Amino acid sequence: MGKVVLASGNRGKLREFGEMLGPLGWEVVPQSQLGVTETDEPFETFLENALRKARNASLQTGLPALADDSGICVPALQGAPGVYSARFAARAGAGEGDEANNRHLLTCLQGLADRRAWYYCVLVWVAHAGDPCPLVAQGRWWGQVLEAPRGSGGFGYDPYFLIPSAGLTAAEMTAVQKNAESHRGQALRQLLQQLSGPNA
Ligand code: IMP
Repeated sequence: MGKVVLASGNRGKLREFGEMLGPLGWEVVPQSQLGVTETDEPFETFLENALRKARNASLQTGLPALADDSGICVPALQGAPGVYSARFAARAGAGEGDEANNRHLLTCLQGLADRRAWYYCVLVWVAHAGDPCPLVAQGRWWGQVLEAPRGSGGFGYDPYFLIPSAGLTAAEMTAVQKNAESHRGQALRQLLQQLSGPNA
């Protein structure tokens, strides 16, 4: 695989893609290093936002692009924060960033018995900006939202995201463990299969 632009500015995501794709010899360059102006994410689905990000990065660089749109969905909150995971607190006027997002999530869940949640990741690959056949892969990782944080790894909602079968939060897992199980790891393995398949 030659040079690929990664359509994300999220440092946690960039680190995880580096951990998973580096050993495969991919040269994945974050879009910020190539002077790409980020696009907005106006859509109600992860898929549409990922497609927009991939096209935008490819258009501005002339390179194949990989985009990740992801977040946490809580059934008891009708799927929120969903596509607004990165801006969950900000949209409610409750601050900005991971800490504020987690605080706001706990506030929304107060008094609710059902604390199940899933992480979702959709990856879109375009060979060029006008690619009529983007590759799409997705992953879903079930867990539940704790009331107090545990662990210092990962990013975003990880310290509150417990995987019951492992007895660990995503922030307590090693990078290898998280990548082996996570929504992003699942989606990436699916995408790699498509890229190496007969129709790629
Ligand atoms: P995006 O960059 O618009 O796709 O927003 C992604 C947001 O979803 C991040 O800012 C995190 O809040 C959340 N998120 C996605 N993947 C993860 C993960 O692996 N761990 C924790 N939070 C995540």
